[in-house]
Amino acid sequence: MHTNFTAEQLASPRIAEAEQILRRCVHCGFCTATCSTYVLLGDERDSPRGRIYLIKDMLENAKPASGAVTFHIDRCLSCLSCMTTCPSGVDYMHLVDLARVHIEETGGRGFKDRLMRNLLASIVPYPDRFRWALKAAGLGRLFVPLLNRLGFGQMAAMLELAPKTRPPAPKYSGPGIATAEANEFGAKRKRVVMLAGCAQQVLRPEINDATIRLLVRRGVDVEVAAGAGCCGALVLHMGREAEAIAQAKRNIDAWWSIIERGAFDGILINASGCGTTVKDYGHLLRNDPEYARKAAHVGGITKDVTEFLAGHDLGAPVQWSSLRVAYHSACSMQHGQRITSEPRMLLKKAGFAVVEIPEGHICCGSAGSYNILQPEIAKELRTRKLAHIESMSPDVVATGNIGCITQLALGTELPIVHTIELLDWAYGGPIPRGLEKLKHRVSDVPKPKPVALAGA
Ligand code: SF4
Ligand code: SF4
Repeated sequence: MHTNFTAEQLASPRIAEAEQILRRCVHCGFCTATCSTYVLLGDERDSPRGRIYLIKDMLENAKPASGAVTFHIDRCLSCLSCMTTCPSGVDYMHLVDLARVHIEETGGRGFKDRLMRNLLASIVPYPDRFRWALKAAGLGRLFVPLLNRLGFGQMAAMLELAPKTRPPAPKYSGPGIATAEANEFGAKRKRVVMLAGCAQQVLRPEINDATIRLLVRRGVDVEVAAGAGCCGALVLHMGREAEAIAQAKRNIDAWWSIIERGAFDGILINASGCGTTVKDYGHLLRNDPEYARKAAHVGGITKDVTEFLAGHDLGAPVQWSSLRVAYHSACSMQHGQRITSEPRMLLKKAGFAVVEIPEGHICCGSAGSYNILQPEIAKELRTRKLAHIESMSPDVVATGNIGCITQLALGTELPIVHTIELLDWAYGGPIPRGLEKLKHRVSDVPKPKPVALAGA
């Protein structure tokens, strides 16, 4: 794509980066066919190519973000399906993030939108505040019809998403080290750091518990660093770059002394939205002389928990089930991190029958805070996704991202769990919440018969 930036504009690192990305686009439009919003809305301005044109025009002409540009960029999920499809390698992820920063700095959002964004940014990344907010949501839910009538649809969507039953108290209770049991497989004992995250530990604390339990049982020490918290994705995708950078630096500081101690096998993340962001810390902090090197190192040693387990011998499962598991590959997992085979392979090795979901590349509508900020589109995407899931008649849905779990659970009776909960269960952990009715479909793995040796 031909661009028309002046030399003065290109002196800005942000514009220089945008220009490099824009130049790769050849307008072919392949990306439109797989774009989660274009397939739903059919408007070119809600496609990757259309948004690229809008961003180009805004940045080239140094315009403040108009209402129309803000509208169409806000409707982008950052699902990154377009990046998987694009034959030219257009780095849409970083382009749309640059556009969001420009919108945040120059655009004029309405009062309700600003209020909602401020609320989300000041509550969700902080587990204690988020816990209190969820308690208040129980009462607030009574006002959902009124909020919808008054035009506070985002607030109503947020209240509807809050779980109706209180999650159980977590076993994991804060920073510290869970020490591995004797390694049953004789392999070298490993040591990892786990990001405990923010919203996930409040909404479904069993995910961190299952991760720690499975790793510890398989000879891996798991450390949760004091001071580490939200990865920064929530605010980054709102264009609040400075806040995202501050959260990334806080995590790097918390992990750095552990990294310097050495004998360390990586940073593990069990929410793929967070994993995509932490793996990209090197880019987020590329212009920071103090943090650029550390951030690139942290990004390079970060793995999704399934990526780590795929390279680790888990042995044979201790329980066997005939459950059909529909594996929902979160966008941040399949498009953001390009992890596709590992979770499926682990589930199959653990004995589950994995079924594929039609149109698996399209987003479920969760996308961080998207299902709160764009509730109508998010609901349509959920309905579409659940219709595809239910067409496969699964017993349970597994996914690697808490956002998808919360989003999908609101529209179906099917149990939706994290992949790691099913793995932990198969390898000796407790039955995941929501699967209790399916307990009769599980049996102990029969002990292998001793092999009679010839001549013995
Ligand atoms: S990130 Fe997703 S919603 Fe946004 S343009 Fe790309 S495919 Fe479409
Ligand atoms: S597929 Fe890539 S090159 Fe083609 S229009 Fe989309 S972003 Fe541009």
